[in-house]
Amino acid sequence: MPRTIQVGSFRWMKTLNKSTILNMIRLHGPISRAEIAKMTKLTPPTVTNIVGELLESKLVIEAELGESTGGRKPIMLKINADAFTVIGIYAGAKRIRGVAVNLEGEVQHTVHVEVPPEPTAEAFVDLVRGAIRQLLDHIDLQTRPCLGIGVGMHGLVDTEKGVSIFAPNLNIRDLPLKDQLEQAFQLPVEVENDVRALALGESWFGLGKDIADFICVHVGTGIGAGIILNHELYRGPSYAAGEIGHTTIDLNGPKCGCGNVGCLEALAAGPAILSRVREAIRRGRSTVLAEWVKGETERLTGEMVHQAAQQGDELAIEVLADAGRYLGIGLANLINTLNPSRIILSGGVSRAGHFVLEPLQKTVRERALSAAARDVAIMRSRLGDNGAAIGAMTLVLQDLFMPSYA
Ligand SMILES: [Zn+2]
Repeated sequence: MPRTIQVGSFRWMKTLNKSTILNMIRLHGPISRAEIAKMTKLTPPTVTNIVGELLESKLVIEAELGESTGGRKPIMLKINADAFTVIGIYAGAKRIRGVAVNLEGEVQHTVHVEVPPEPTAEAFVDLVRGAIRQLLDHIDLQTRPCLGIGVGMHGLVDTEKGVSIFAPNLNIRDLPLKDQLEQAFQLPVEVENDVRALALGESWFGLGKDIADFICVHVGTGIGAGIILNHELYRGPSYAAGEIGHTTIDLNGPKCGCGNVGCLEALAAGPAILSRVREAIRRGRSTVLAEWVKGETERLTGEMVHQAAQQGDELAIEVLADAGRYLGIGLANLINTLNPSRIILSGGVSRAGHFVLEPLQKTVRERALSAAARDVAIMRSRLGDNGAAIGAMTLVLQDLFMPSYA
């Protein structure tokens, strides 16, 4: 259904008005009924009716009295933030992180579960269920009922059906997560790709707030992007929008997990950085990293490379700068294509700070068209380790406050 109000569809219109008013109270509360009527151009009796329903549902409460403009002081309305709980789960290939939040996105409880290598689909869903159960155990469901569960899943996700189509780092295919979790918990479940969920989280609670066009780029074990255009998440018909990790940067580059060669991911993601260090050590390059791992280069971690760079290790600085330059080329392509006003970086590689960011910014300035490069701000996410889980629970909030009526 289009997002315009259809004549003769009163029931639906009423629902649209309800979410419009609810969202207005979220954004502008405490707010009076009269102000809502003025801002929405709905009639005062309509506003009073809908607010009555919202008060009954406990989503909204009457707060303090407002300023009087002569006559009686108006009663102000605000979101009843602590009356409900929403759960967000980041389901990654190495770990699962979960948060229980109130309606204002304030984190009340967190959970963290390590994922063993190559779990079966069943074992993986068990871990996700276990994380959700732990969070629910912490909540008094009588006083703070749970409204729903959002899952940000690694890999390709069919958001309509809530199916994980392909999770490459877990080697899991066609997993009906939404169905399985709804069955287990009898709660509505929304599933989205993890980086796209993070972009949504940034647009509600992070550096993307009030920004119409921005891109969230995650650089960790893999590289992916969540694209927000005109305040909306862009998915594409095959749910593959933002797979920038598999754009070609070097025709003759190294082999990538997707089967191609020279993908951005194969050049700048965490594993690519580590394999370049290993190769240099094998060739006898002198570096403090060789001493730290005592020849066992499989023990190398991204944190070690960062630490070595901080101590002035030339190889570590060089390898991080290479990754920064490759990322800069990938981002310049993205900037020239979509002209975003912000790029928000997250993930382990972005934690290497200026060792990656400076060469990255320099490459963007050299390669993106000057107007687009001038207008884009590149910054690091501030949502922290729970960013993807916070993004996942935003899926539920989005459904409550800004349903698409699709
Ligand atoms: Zn690839």
